[in-house]
Amino acid sequence: MQVASHQFSDYILFAHKGISGPAILNASLFWEKGKIAIDFLPFSSINFNTSKTPINALPLPRRFIKAFLEYIGLENKALRSMNATEKEKLLLLKNFEFAPAGTFGFKKAEVCKGGVTCSEITQNFEAKNQKGLFFIGEALEVTGRLGGFNLQFAFSSGAKCADFINNIN
Ligand SMILES: Cc1cc2nc3c(=O)[nH]c(=O)nc-3n(C[C@H](O)[C@H](O)[C@H](O)COP(=O)(O)OP(=O)(O)OC[C@H]3O[C@@H](n4cnc5c(N)ncnc54)[C@H](O)[C@@H]3O)c2cc1C
Repeated sequence: MQVASHQFSDYILFAHKGISGPAILNASLFWEKGKIAIDFLPFSSINFNTSKTPINALPLPRRFIKAFLEYIGLENKALRSMNATEKEKLLLLKNFEFAPAGTFGFKKAEVCKGGVTCSEITQNFEAKNQKGLFFIGEALEVTGRLGGFNLQFAFSSGAKCADFINNIN
């Protein structure tokens, strides 16, 4: 999947509403507005030289291919029998561009981009212009990709900050 200049290779989940999963969650960190592109077959090409149909030939869930064929208005017929226009349509699987309508916002977000600017705090997470005021974790403009980095940062910044506070005086 490609978003802005970033590429992610990971699972995509079709949820009840919209799409999710690791690739989408990572991509959403960089997506502002505009198109993203998905390669649904990152590890294979489409072999049009077979009597098999897309549903039988492609390494994708049958229900997904069925829905995709419906969406692009293509019959599930032998790949070999497809004309140039039909092939072009099916090749959208390799570069499916679309503009997401939006995100589900703060309520559904796993992490927040943005927050208190790091240059405004000390190494002990204390506000430079307000002694005794501390910011850690999500409150800061630190956002990690998937993989536990956000929890790690929340724990680490909290521990460092608490250590500092415990040792004041
Ligand atoms: C569904 C989901 C899945 C996630 N999965 C991952 C993951 O797999 N890996 C990963 O690294 N990160 C994950 N995250 C992100 C991670 O949980 C957060 O980055 C992390 O918990 C931030 O820690 P925090 O202490 O800064 O904030 P929070 O965990 O949000 O803690 C803030 C606390 O402050 C309390 N609070 C708020 N307002 C007040 C108030 N006025 N007075 C008193 N208390 C208040 C809240 O109730 C809350 O307990 C996930 C987040 C979500 C929502």
